[in-house]
Amino acid sequence: MRAWVVDRPGPVEEGPLRLVERPVPEPGSGELLVRVRACGVCRTDLHVTEGDLPVRRPGVTPGHEVVGVVDGVGAGVSGWAAGDRVGAAWLRRTDGTCRYCLRGDENLCPGSEYTGWDADGGYAEYTTVPAAFAYRLPADVDDVALAPLLCAGIIGYRALLRTSLPPGGRLGLYGFGGSAHLCAQVALAQGATVHVLTRDEASRRLALDLGCASARGAHDQPPEPLDGAILFAPAGELVPVALRALDRGGVLAVAGIHLSDVPVLRYESELFYEKELRSVTSNTRDNGRDFLALAARYGVRATTHPYPLSEAPRALSDLKAGRFDGAAVLLNDL
Ligand SMILES: [Zn+2]
Ligand SMILES: [Zn+2]
Repeated sequence: MRAWVVDRPGPVEEGPLRLVERPVPEPGSGELLVRVRACGVCRTDLHVTEGDLPVRRPGVTPGHEVVGVVDGVGAGVSGWAAGDRVGAAWLRRTDGTCRYCLRGDENLCPGSEYTGWDADGGYAEYTTVPAAFAYRLPADVDDVALAPLLCAGIIGYRALLRTSLPPGGRLGLYGFGGSAHLCAQVALAQGATVHVLTRDEASRRLALDLGCASARGAHDQPPEPLDGAILFAPAGELVPVALRALDRGGVLAVAGIHLSDVPVLRYESELFYEKELRSVTSNTRDNGRDFLALAARYGVRATTHPYPLSEAPRALSDLKAGRFDGAAVLLNDL
């Protein structure tokens, strides 16, 4: 098969991704072999490719928004058969035995492994996924529309949960890319008022088209105080900006896996009155299944930009340069 690998992490325009020939992987015990049909492009893929995240598997194939078809099953797999539609996402495996797993916080498992970082992901003709962490996908939504739901959608949903937004609450979204525009649709469907704060003008138009109440610049004040906010932009300097926009008791959740340094916080204006700052780490399988069910019920749709899988580096450069709104999806043409 053909697969993209991260040769040596570095700026994407310098060619750290290389297309190679390698054997089709064998599904291990409990794993599915997946023929990749589409794979979403997530900012984390850029962090893996450029080395913002440390190398966990040299020569790894990125990609963790995989929509495909089961092509084979490993030993001990039941309930899956060749031809089934399947999704593989970021959380690939947990130990199931640590204190976090046992209390239902498997997203915090120190023994967790991630698709496209610890193991080869979906920028390839084939990949594997542990059956226990694979998602069943609806039959009536096409590959391109589904792919971004599998990370951007799920992580945006967990971030929304982390804001503990009260019913009918006022939500601020800082940054409006792949994850935020899906999160906004869930929040709106659940009755929230959504304000978007982002520097990108095309994203502000998309926000208003989706029904958000306002769309302003990233450093602007929203038109009303916020009960909850989510920082999607990987920009630590926006943390105090967003905290100041919160109402008393408001919660700011930081959705990114990577954030530039947060400046010094001023307690009185940015944290007092029981404002809270929370991070978001990966997701549980329950978050994933709940989100996919809600997305189907609410008709959540990703704004997508298809690229051939053979042009994965161009998709990553375009993501880095902010050349599209919504989410890029690679279609397997290898
Ligand atoms: Zn664990
Ligand atoms: Zn992701």
